[in-house]
Amino acid sequence: VSALPVAPTSGALRPVPLDHVRITGGYWADRQQINASATLQHCVYWLDRLGWVSNFTKVAAGGEFSRAGREFSDSEIYKIIEALAWEQARTGLDWAGEAYARLTAEVIAAQQPDGYVNTNFGSPGQQPRYSDLDWGHELYCAGHLIQAAVARLRTAGRDDFVDAAVRLADHICREFGPDGRDGICGHPEIEVALAELGRALDDRTYLDQARLFIDRRGHGQLDGTLFGSSYFQDDEPVREATVLRGHAVRALYLSAGAMDVAVEYDDDEMRAALQTQWANTVARRTYLTGGMGSRHDGESFGSDFELPSDRAYCETCAGVGSIMFSWRLLLAGGGNEYADLIERTLYNVVAASAEADGTRFFYVNPLERNELGAPVPDDEVSPRASSSERAPWFTVSCCPTNIARTLASLSAYVATTDESGLQLHQFVEGEIDTTLTDGSPVGLSIRTDYPHRGRVSITVRQAPSYPWTLSLRVPSWAAGRATITVGGATSAVPSTHAEVERVFVPGETVELELPMEPRFTSADPRIDALRAQVAVERGPLVYCLESVDLPPDVALDRVDVDRAIPPTDDARGSVFVSATARSADDGGWPYCAVDGEDRASQPPPAQSPEPLAVRLIPYNSWAERGPSTMRVWLPKSG
Ligand SMILES: [Zn+2]
Repeated sequence: VSALPVAPTSGALRPVPLDHVRITGGYWADRQQINASATLQHCVYWLDRLGWVSNFTKVAAGGEFSRAGREFSDSEIYKIIEALAWEQARTGLDWAGEAYARLTAEVIAAQQPDGYVNTNFGSPGQQPRYSDLDWGHELYCAGHLIQAAVARLRTAGRDDFVDAAVRLADHICREFGPDGRDGICGHPEIEVALAELGRALDDRTYLDQARLFIDRRGHGQLDGTLFGSSYFQDDEPVREATVLRGHAVRALYLSAGAMDVAVEYDDDEMRAALQTQWANTVARRTYLTGGMGSRHDGESFGSDFELPSDRAYCETCAGVGSIMFSWRLLLAGGGNEYADLIERTLYNVVAASAEADGTRFFYVNPLERNELGAPVPDDEVSPRASSSERAPWFTVSCCPTNIARTLASLSAYVATTDESGLQLHQFVEGEIDTTLTDGSPVGLSIRTDYPHRGRVSITVRQAPSYPWTLSLRVPSWAAGRATITVGGATSAVPSTHAEVERVFVPGETVELELPMEPRFTSADPRIDALRAQVAVERGPLVYCLESVDLPPDVALDRVDVDRAIPPTDDARGSVFVSATARSADDGGWPYCAVDGEDRASQPPPAQSPEPLAVRLIPYNSWAERGPSTMRVWLPKSG
């Protein structure tokens, strides 16, 4: 049994399990530590406080009851159970084991004799089961229960909760099988869950059901009155679509499940379609941060190159879904572009959502905010996802628990193996102890201050006595500028892979050096919202200008960056750009005639602007110094 969230039976790369990779220091170790010591408990506290856990107690008691929370609140209990299962495997945290036992007992007690479990349907006084597949989220919730059980099965073996998940999966296969209801859930998730359960139990029944759900979608079965069929990805079959569209989280979860099915059934047509959809979505519908979802309306992808900074939705869960999809594509076929996007999304969406203390979260992650966000008190549920500062909890609170399970299982996304050797996809400080595909043990110690500094030093502690290849991803932003040092000899890395093939002697060190100078980034002119603007990146981090870093008399929307002067950085990770502040006078009309040289005919401001050295901070740590306005993309002068 391997401790893995995703374990395809075939593919180019084999994931190295979570318990073979220990993240021991640096950026992600801190995040995992905060997740373990603060976020998990914080989530359980809110689930208890709002009555979302006691919904299960009330179902178990029988009779009519008044139910707390939205129709999908059960899924948050399941996602936190999943996070607790991973955390227990990662650290053996006692508290995680106790919380896991208590929460799973509540769920098991609420399960009906035929395997069904959901606190929003089927109890006395409630709507009947499966009477609202479009909006009821029953199969979505079931999917999260099953994913949580797979986490437990793969880390601790079969227990009562895993048995409950199998009963639920069996019930779904009976109810929705080839001879059952011809239905699909309005929110994909059951597909990715059943596929993984099928893999974990080596039982094709669940994979068949996942495939059936995938094939049934795309024929206009769900009610598109409100947002159109594309909202549910029910406008076009997965194998025919060319780009992701509709509700971003739905689209990404569906794609992850479809990829699992494509791999397990050797369905090259579907696999190719999903690769095309990923490529087109990344090329045309993805923010610099890796965020996805351009519209608040329907929480959806926009049309091509519709990527407004201020109206960006970029739901945290879409970031998690994007990582799920990219990771499956990476395992199936290799390709650094997938690991690149995972890195970008981890640092600039997942890390941006959670506040440093791990108890407040952004639901949406815009790249620009022009009004001060409203602070949310510690004991208040935020009803709105879009206008506040980070909030402790939301009426729809899918994001905090998604962060919790992602961080608890993060070490499963670091490395893979294949016949040639081992591939390192994410740079973390830590220890890897695993086996190559022939069973030979390999031990690596990784020392790095990444993403603060660009050096990644890998010492081989244990290795077979024959030649094998250590492959290191070189991020696309470092292409052509990275160097590698082996046996004292330094050389340039010509491509986006640094590959070292040799008989490694224990104690030998390979050093990758990535260029970490801050850099200006511009956007495709087809992204109208970003014309005449630049962003600044340093390593994998996107930077932003926050109003609290400006002199009090300079408003954020008046700062122009001088792109002729390269950005600089300091030892603490801040970046500085040279800028000027435009005049603050409003005319009566914000437009003006242009002369023959296309220059504004208005006279230049009387006072010639003084250059300012403007400090930028990593986007993932904005909004931690009180209400502020913020921009990632800055107007450029000249
Ligand atoms: Zn969410």
